[in-house]
Amino acid sequence: MSQLQDNFGRRFHYLRMSVTDVCNFKCSYCLPDGYHPTGKQHFLSLSEIENLVSAFSQVGTQKIRITGGEPTLRKDFTDIVRIVSDNPSIHTVATTTNGYRLAQHAKEWFDAGLRRINVSVDSLDPKMFYQITGENKFDEVMRGIDAALTAGFERVKVNAVLLKGMNDKDLPRFLNWIKNTPIDLRFIELMETGLGRDYFQAHHLAGADIKAQLQSQGWSLDIADIDDGPAQNFSHPDYRGRIGLIMPYAKNFCATCNRLRVSAKGKLHLCLFTESGLELRDLLQHPDQQAELIERLHAQLAQKKETHYLHQGITGVTQHLASIGG
Ligand code: SAM
Ligand code: SF4
Repeated sequence: MSQLQDNFGRRFHYLRMSVTDVCNFKCSYCLPDGYHPTGKQHFLSLSEIENLVSAFSQVGTQKIRITGGEPTLRKDFTDIVRIVSDNPSIHTVATTTNGYRLAQHAKEWFDAGLRRINVSVDSLDPKMFYQITGENKFDEVMRGIDAALTAGFERVKVNAVLLKGMNDKDLPRFLNWIKNTPIDLRFIELMETGLGRDYFQAHHLAGADIKAQLQSQGWSLDIADIDDGPAQNFSHPDYRGRIGLIMPYAKNFCATCNRLRVSAKGKLHLCLFTESGLELRDLLQHPDQQAELIERLHAQLAQKKETHYLHQGITGVTQHLASIGG
């Protein structure tokens, strides 16, 4: 079966699969008022997930990231990890989490086949962490990162959204932390969502400023790896950790796009920002629908646009990233 490819020659070997919209944090840039259910909470079942993973694995997907909302809120999260890791075509099973259950479950998830983990830590100052996430769980999350490193995860990635007037003074603290710890730190530029312009304009910090600061301190840009996607990665001879910058507003950001997204209710999103989701769920009900599902995936890929239109303030249908997994 042929690899998923769009009209601009981009190949898609990476799927971000959301398994829930629910979240227990209230990050000010994502769910400032916390999660409020809309409509029926009927997220993908284990058998639907199995059919989805199977179809994507037949069209070249090699890496699946389980995301949300907060994916680890699902009671069957370990079963989901196992379904993905049992598929021989999927080489990498990853998740992105706010880390609040990591200390207790890192070993269990590793044993089920999870190999990459991104933990969101927007500040190393517990007070600022609370101010940004609305949760007093800094120590718990940091214990989770230690537990992941002990459980066997080779490296842990830490995501931090850069916010003007909030965590923008934290760079020295982050750098100090990764001097002797094998953390891949990923600074994500704030993206405008349906939450509105005001928040964005008040807190958006250009990734290019951080890039300039890093380069002036001896960090150098690494040669891009197939797995990097749109991230720009930096390393420094005196540091065990590395730094990645995700700058969605940078020129050519979309040129290296290698990912597709499926929402927790089974809709395919060709981009985070430009269109409404395309229904897949009707074809996730039986294993004998695989050929039809694959045909639909190929047909939809032809619709993928060359770039997002964030620069024009067009944020698409994505009200917040918890609904589609970031
Ligand atoms: N709840 C999990 C977490 O926070 O890690 C997974 C889902 S969350 C939507 C995935 C990532 O998207 C997180 O690292 C989060 O910081 C990031 N994110 C959410 N809203 C964002 C925004 N408006 N701009 C940039 N990154 C955002
Ligand atoms: Fe929840 Fe993640 Fe959104 Fe924070 S960024 S509110 S942890 S989904």
